[in-house]
Amino acid sequence: MVKNTKHRPRFIMCFCTGECPGFAKLELWKLVNFVRNELDVEYAVIHPQLCVTDGDNFLRDLVKDGDKDRIYVIGGCDPRMQRKMFKDVFAEKGLDFDKQVVSLDLRNMETQEAMKKVAETIEKLKVS
Ligand code: SF4
Repeated sequence: MVKNTKHRPRFIMCFCTGECPGFAKLELWKLVNFVRNELDVEYAVIHPQLCVTDGDNFLRDLVKDGDKDRIYVIGGCDPRMQRKMFKDVFAEKGLDFDKQVVSLDLRNMETQEAMKKVAETIEKLKVS
C-alpha cells in the first residue's frame, strides 16, 4: 500500500504514443496543466510510451537508488499492466513498486473524469 511521505508526489502521464483509441477523449495538455498547476504535486511530466526501452531509460533516470520516500502517480493503462512493466526498474534501484507507485487507469475517460480521478488520488496522498 502506498503511504504519505515527506515529499509531494510526482505525476507521470503515459500517453500511449498519442495514437491509442483509449485516450481519444482525453485532452492531454488540459489534464497535465491541471495537475501541475492545481494539485499538490512536485511536478507533472508526460512520456509517450513508458513500457518500451526509452520508457525504461526514462524511469531509470528519474528513480534514484534507495529513494524510498518518493511517490509516483502514473496515469496510463491498467494498473496490473503497469505493475508488470515497471516493477523491475524500481526493484533494480532497491525500491518497492507497490509502496511507491499509484497506477491510475485513465483510459476511456473524458478529461473532467480523469482530472477528478487524479485529484482524488493526490488528495489522499497529501503530506500532513
Ligand atoms: S504503459 Fe500502458 S499506457 Fe503507457 S504506452 Fe504502455 S500500454 Fe500504453
